Amino acid sequence: MNARVSLESLKGALDVLGSHKALRREFGMRLPTLMYHNIGSVAPGSNKALTISPARFRRQLRWLARRGYTGITASQWLAWCREARPLPDKAVLLTFDDAYADTATQGFRILREEGFTGTVFVVSSEIGGTNTWDQADGIARQELITAEEIRYWATHGIEFGAHGRTHADLTRLGPADAKAEMLDSRDRLAHLIGEPIASFAYPYGYYNDSVLESVKEIFPVVFTCDAGLNDLRTDLNRLKRAEMVSQYSFLDPFFQVRIGYNPIIVFRRTVGRLRRQAVTRARELLRVRDRGLFRT
Ligand SMILES: [Zn+2]
Repeated sequence: MNARVSLESLKGALDVLGSHKALRREFGMRLPTLMYHNIGSVAPGSNKALTISPARFRRQLRWLARRGYTGITASQWLAWCREARPLPDKAVLLTFDDAYADTATQGFRILREEGFTGTVFVVSSEIGGTNTWDQADGIARQELITAEEIRYWATHGIEFGAHGRTHADLTRLGPADAKAEMLDSRDRLAHLIGEPIASFAYPYGYYNDSVLESVKEIFPVVFTCDAGLNDLRTDLNRLKRAEMVSQYSFLDPFFQVRIGYNPIIVFRRTVGRLRRQAVTRARELLRVRDRGLFRT
């Protein structure tokens, strides 16, 4: 009798312990989400900071693999949050914005060779075209992924998400136009691949209350450019990402997977901004002095 009681209580304790462990795992689960742009060589006039060389990209993937990270897609994160579908213990989500041709030809191949997967955000009016939205800002013309490549990679371990019809800043459009940008990018891509599209990345990372209202009806899983890590409590319409840039490669992706941003880059940018503000202020003061406004 006593033995049976002990056995039962031991079993109960194990059950509790098991569920406690599972609970701790679920609530303790953090999802680092890395945001890449170009994987390739730097083209003249292109955005150097956002271009990671293929060799460095491979090193980063090997670094992640050595530390036990497994790549997942945006849909897998959604399925875990909504349906408690299992995830690897140390998951990492690699995302690629704008779907540049070099990222497709070089980046995806390396990604698959190293045993990772990723989610790529496509601008639907420019499939097989160029980065027209960047060229308006003086950035060099770059080729983008073709329809054929999208179809190929969609069946070879890469997930596709939408990134707007024209890469317009949705916060500068009226609600109807913003919604049309999202719907067109979703539907064109879904038609091309023959499967529903679950994810979206805000062009430039910009969103406001009106955009959030619309996006909820169209995509179940949406990414910002806000820094940080994601967990079960993170709003699925505002998932965070750590930007992968070409500076300070020796510490990438060390900080990105642990805290969701690189503090050295943030510090450098803050110092740069403060310096620019100080210079502007000094110039204003000089102008005031030259106009003689300080004379008494
Ligand atoms: Zn973009």
